[in-house]
Order: sequence, then structure tokens, then C-alpha cells
Amino acid sequence: MRLSFLGPPGAGKGTQAQRLSAARGIPHLSTGEMLRAAIRAQTPLGREVQGFMRAGNLVPDELVIRMLRERLRQDDTRPGFLLDGFPRTVVQAEALETFAPLDRVLYFDLPEPELLDRLADRWSCPKCGRVYNLRSNLPRAPGVCDEDGTALLQRPDDRPEAVRVRLKVYHAETAPVLAYYRARDLVLTVRASGSVEAVYERILGALGKGAPPGRSEEAL
Ligand code: ADP
Ligand code: AMP
Repeated sequence: MRLSFLGPPGAGKGTQAQRLSAARGIPHLSTGEMLRAAIRAQTPLGREVQGFMRAGNLVPDELVIRMLRERLRQDDTRPGFLLDGFPRTVVQAEALETFAPLDRVLYFDLPEPELLDRLADRWSCPKCGRVYNLRSNLPRAPGVCDEDGTALLQRPDDRPEAVRVRLKVYHAETAPVLAYYRARDLVLTVRASGSVEAVYERILGALGKGAPPGRSEEAL
């Protein structure tokens, strides 16, 4: 199964991708997480992209396409993969079509006020990327990651100025990707409000139902 989770920042894609990838045994490929790892390691790619990311802008298409294409050459992606945060432009969607066409796209639908609330309280582990929320998804011990005990941090691009840019970029660049896949009848829409558990159940329901030909979009 070749899946992508599409939706605005803060909709819960990473949280749900982590669960679904563990349940289905397919790798969760978050381009945002790969880029943050490159920044942490201060690789040439990391140094090139850090300014774009900090400000909330997209990284240039050719860099992110090359990075993902290389990752998809690894054997663990043979049974399938779950993309989170890619494609984010129509150019990326067209490129993906040439080397790893998708079977399904899950669109996370969440109103903007809820996105802003979730992003304002998001903390994450700089070591493993696991995501928490101070209101809705607390770590077991305050301020540290459940997995590895690392001190949690807020992402620089979750500052209100960067969030504003990211939402604008989402509407200008990524909303057309949804139209691209809708035209190909690949989109399942999942209502992303409610608890992590409730959204996960909706995702399983949407995937289980599959998509009848010519009527693939299910608003759940
Ligand atoms: P995305 O990957 O789409 O940017 P995340 O998965 O990082 O979104 O989630 C954004 C924030 O919202 C995180 O702090 C996460 O813990 C929290 N979150 C995720 N899903 C839910 C949910 N169903 N209800 C409340 N908070 C959630
Ligand atoms: P995310 O972790 O998905 O919220 O992504 C964080 C940031 O990484 C984005 O705001 C972009 O700067 C960059 N990024 C992640 N994926 C892509 C992509 N597919 N295309 C361009 N930039 C990306």
C-alpha cells in the first residue's frame, strides 16, 4: 500500500501516521522529520534548508524530491510506505507519479481555529521526532519523551509568525495537490477533529471501505 497523508499543518498527520505505520508494518516517511534530522546533523542539505523551514516556507522542490526519491530506494519501502508531508506542491505530485505512484491519499480535514490550538501546544522530541501536546497528548513525565527520556522542545516553525506563513503556503501550494488527486479519484477525506483514538478509527474505517470506482471520496 502506497499512501500519503495530506492536510494543513497541525491536523494530526504525524500522530496518526506513527500509529498506522506500526499497525501495518510499513515505514512512516515524514519529509519534515527527514529535513529536521538533516538540520540537526548539519549536513549540506540541512544547512541549505534551515532558513526556509524556520520561516515556515517550503523547501525547494528539487531538494525534497531528490531526498525522498533516494529514501524510497531502500528495501523497507517495498511492501509499501506512508508519506507524511509529501507531496506538498503539484510539481512534487507529478514527480512522484514517475517513480512511486500512490494508491490512496488521505485528506485530514480540520478547521483553522483547531489547527492553531494544536500547533500552539505542540512539543516534540528532538531525538526521535515523537509528538506531544500540552493539552491533549501529554508525555508520561513532564517535559521528557516517553521513548528515550530526551527533553522536549517546541519547533521554531510553530512560532505564531511562522504558523501564519505555513497556513498561507498550504492554501497556495498544497491545496492544489488535493485537487490533483481528487481528479484522479484517489482521495479519502477524514474528519480530523476529536480524540486521537476517534480519528484513528475513522482512518481505519476509510481505508477498510476502500473506494468504489468513480465514487472514492468518503466524508466520514
Ligand atoms: P501534523 O503532522 O499534521 O502537523 P501533528 O501530528 O504533529 O500534526 O499534531 C499536531 C499537534 O496536535 C500535536 O501537538 C499533537 O500531539 C496534537 N494532536 C494530534 N492529533 C490530535 C487530536 N486528535 N486531538 C488533539 N490533539 C491532537
Ligand atoms: P512538517 O514536519 O511536515 O510540518 O514540515 C515542516 C517543514 O519542512 C515545512 O514547513 C517545510 O519547510 C519543510 N517540508 C517538509 N516537507 C516538505 C515538502 N514536501 N516540500 C517542501 N518543504 C517541505
